Amino acid sequence: MQPSSLQLPRLKRDQLLTLLLMVAFVPGSSSCGIERRAGVGYESLRPVSTVVIVTFDGVRPEEIFAIAGPGLESEALLRSEVAMPFFLDELGPSGVFLGHPETGEPMTVANPLAVSLPGYQSMFSGRPTLCFSNECGRPMGETLFDRVHEAFELPKESISVFASWKGLCAGLGLDNRFDAHCGADAIQASWRSQIGGTPREGKEELPLAVDEAAFDLALQRLREPLPTLLYLALDATDATGHANDYAGHLSALAQYDEWLRALDQRLRQLEAKGHRSALLVTTDHGRGSGEGWSQHRWNVSESERVWLFARGPGIAATGPVGTSEKTTLTSVRPTVEEWLALEPVRGPLFGPPLTEILGQLRLRSESFSD
Ligand SMILES: [Zn+2]
Repeated sequence: MQPSSLQLPRLKRDQLLTLLLMVAFVPGSSSCGIERRAGVGYESLRPVSTVVIVTFDGVRPEEIFAIAGPGLESEALLRSEVAMPFFLDELGPSGVFLGHPETGEPMTVANPLAVSLPGYQSMFSGRPTLCFSNECGRPMGETLFDRVHEAFELPKESISVFASWKGLCAGLGLDNRFDAHCGADAIQASWRSQIGGTPREGKEELPLAVDEAAFDLALQRLREPLPTLLYLALDATDATGHANDYAGHLSALAQYDEWLRALDQRLRQLEAKGHRSALLVTTDHGRGSGEGWSQHRWNVSESERVWLFARGPGIAATGPVGTSEKTTLTSVRPTVEEWLALEPVRGPLFGPPLTEILGQLRLRSESFSD
């Protein structure tokens, strides 16, 4: 149902309020209690030694949860059934999945624009930022990467980023303090020097080939000395979306499903040897519904809807779960901070750690249990 053009829907009013708050408060660096610095034996006190974050650019909850919506996607899903069977049915139950369209309040972007860079900045700043396009520089204040780097006085190799989209390094302030590789050229150059072999026969510039090289590098990085933070940012799904190529979109997701399986297997092998890890998978923005699925921006209805999967300390193994309050991408940073035993960033615009959201959820369900 289309809202009248003169009447803003409720979510748009929420978005407007967020925008006003963002203009009113421009937070600087976080002031978040006692920083627990690295020291002798510190490593053994951290709940998690390695956090792996994976993002798929512009993937809707419908495809993740295999919910056939109106229009073209229902037909395509009938043909392909579940786009990501490993993610949904095997990995999903080992952690928590937020953003299921038919369960609880929606999970949404934090910055009302519903385009990529504001989405990524919200995740890693822990709050919406004053970025309204894909051409912003680094966000004001501290990011998760800055925080982890400074708190543990880490060497460069301890924070590794492999991102298919070139703009992500500049947009997240990933400078030479980090082992960060963004864009097709940087990814393929690293792939050739670290993995070697024949470049993919002139296809290396294709979005999925860049994603594949980024995935190869990320998987290879999960060896000793293990990183504290590993971020893999995949991008081909946004290209298939804008090209209105639904079959290509589903086949990119099927490929991502296999890569998630490989990453998860590697983490579980490390866990079997006593190396504690956590995994978080999410998206920077959603897309429109039905025939409008190929686009996303503030005025494309439903492009604000996102999803998130996490498994790690404090996260119950529930699979898809509804929350009674809206959650946003701003919970990514404080959740990772909590996993790494850093006091989670706090402030009027910062999101709560997922453990807090899930703790409230459990309390509520207990209070209703009798
Ligand atoms: Zn896009």
